[in-house]
Amino acid sequence: MRSWHLVFSIALLFTPELRAQERPGLEDLKQQAIAAVDARQVFTQQMVDQIFSYAELGFQERETSRYVTGILEQNGFQIERGVAGIPTAWIATYGSGRPVIAFISDLDCIPRASQKPGVAYHDPIVEGAPGHGEGHNSGSAVNVTAVLVLRELMQKTKIPGTLKIFPGVAEELLGTKAYYVRAGLFDGVDIVLGSHVDDSLATSYGQSYAPQGLVSVQYLFHGRAAHAAMAPWDGRSALDAVELMDAAWNFRREHLRLQQRSHYVIVNGGDQPNVVPSEASVWYYFRELDYAHIRELFELGNTMAESATMMTGATVTRKVVGSAWPPNFSKVVAEAQQKNIERVGMPQWSEADQSLAKALQKKIGQPTDGLKTKVDELKPPSPETEKGGSDDVGDISWNVPMVYLRYPANIPHTPGHSWVDAVAMATPIAHKGSTAGAKVQALTALDFLLSPELVKQARDYFTSVQTKDVKYVPLIGSEDKPATEFNKDKMEKFLPELRKYYYDPSKYKTYLDQLGIQYPTVRK
Ligand SMILES: [Zn+2]
Repeated sequence: MRSWHLVFSIALLFTPELRAQERPGLEDLKQQAIAAVDARQVFTQQMVDQIFSYAELGFQERETSRYVTGILEQNGFQIERGVAGIPTAWIATYGSGRPVIAFISDLDCIPRASQKPGVAYHDPIVEGAPGHGEGHNSGSAVNVTAVLVLRELMQKTKIPGTLKIFPGVAEELLGTKAYYVRAGLFDGVDIVLGSHVDDSLATSYGQSYAPQGLVSVQYLFHGRAAHAAMAPWDGRSALDAVELMDAAWNFRREHLRLQQRSHYVIVNGGDQPNVVPSEASVWYYFRELDYAHIRELFELGNTMAESATMMTGATVTRKVVGSAWPPNFSKVVAEAQQKNIERVGMPQWSEADQSLAKALQKKIGQPTDGLKTKVDELKPPSPETEKGGSDDVGDISWNVPMVYLRYPANIPHTPGHSWVDAVAMATPIAHKGSTAGAKVQALTALDFLLSPELVKQARDYFTSVQTKDVKYVPLIGSEDKPATEFNKDKMEKFLPELRKYYYDPSKYKTYLDQLGIQYPTVRK
C-alpha cells in the first residue's frame, strides 16, 4: 500500500503533463475569474471610494500608497517601497518564474478638482482642494481586484508565473515612468497591462499621429535684487529674463511645425514691485510627435532661456519635471485583450446612472446621449492629428510589450482635468466600470499566463515591428531626479480638511452614503 503510494507520487513528480491535465483549461479558468471578480464587487467599490476620498496630488500619494500596498501585503504580495528614488512608489510581487505579467495604473489627482460625487453641478467637498477630476482613483481598484483573483487561481491550480503591480505615481506631472525604466524596474517583465479610466471599454495599438510625447521643464532665472526706485541700475531682473524668453518663444511659434504644442505658466514672477526680482521661473511643456522632434523643441527652449540671460545679465538653471515618450502599444496584446473586452461587454447602467450622466452633459453644454452601451472596436492607430494629451506610460511601452485598457468608469464628453470629471468617480458608474475593467485585466493576464507561445509572439512583434527602427533613449538626462518635492505645499495646505472626509467603510456602505448624497442629485 505504502510502496504503491510512493511509486505513484514519484510518477506524479516526473509527469508534468499529468499536472497540466489536472489544471482546468483556459476557458474554465476564465469563467472562474469572471465569477470571482463579480464576487468582489463590494471590495472594488470600497477601493474606488476610499482612494477618491484621499484625493492626493502627484508625488504626495502617501495615504493611497499605504492603503493599496496594505491590501496587497495582506494578500501575500511582497512589497518593495520607495523604488526609483520616489517615496510614494512601490512594487508588489506575487509568484515566481516566467511569464512575468505586470499591471500599472495611476494614483494621483488634479489640483482644485474637489467635487461631491453623484452631483451634476459644481459642488466641492473642500473648496479649492485637490480632487479626482481625472478618475485615477479607480485604476488601483481595477488592477488590485484582478490580481487578487489571479493570485487565488494561480495558487489553487498551480499556474506558474509572476504578477507585479506598479503604481502610476505623479502621472499628472508625467513624473515617474522614465525613472522606473532607468532604475530597471521592468527588466525581466514579459507583458505590461496598464489600465486607465475612460467612458468606454477599449484598447488600442501602435503609435499616435498626435503630439503625445513631451518634456516638462522649469527654467529658474537668477538675477540680483535692488531697490527698484533708489538703485534699479544695481539690479538684474530675473523676471525680465522670463518675459523675454516667453516673448521670443511666442514669435518663434509661428515658424514651428504644426504638430508641436507648447505652453507655459509663470511659476514665480517675483515678490513685490519695489524689489528687483532676483528669482523668477517659468514652466514649459514641449510636445511633439516623436523623440527627435521633442528633443529639438526642448533644445530650442534651452537656447531661448540662455539668450534671455544674455539680454538681462541674469543666469539660468533648469529642472526637468517630467517627460514622456508617445505610447507605442502592442498589437499582439491588444488583439488578445479585445476578445476579452467583447466577452465582458459594457456594464448594465441603471436609470439613475443614465440620468446623472445626461444631467452633467446638459450642464456642460454637450450632447446628452448618456453613458455608452457598446464596447469599442479595435481600430488601427487613428490618423487624427489634433488631440494631443500625453501619458508617461509611453516610456514603458518602448521597453516591454504593453497595452492600456480603457474601462468605462466615467461619463462621455467631459473636458478632463476638472471637477466635471470627478462627478461619476465615486458612484455606481465608476464601481461597475471598474468591475468590468478588472474582468478584462484578469482574462488577458490568463491568456498570457497559460500560453508561452503568445508571450513569445508579443516579444517577437515588439522586436521585429514595434522597435525595429526606433530605439528608446530617455528624454531625462543622467543627472535629472524625480521632482518628488512637487505638490508638497498644496497637499499640506488641504490635508487637515480632506482628512475629515476620508471614507470609512466600517460605518458606511458607500462614500455617497457617508456624504449623505441622494443619487443622483441633478439640480440644486
Ligand atoms: Zn490619466
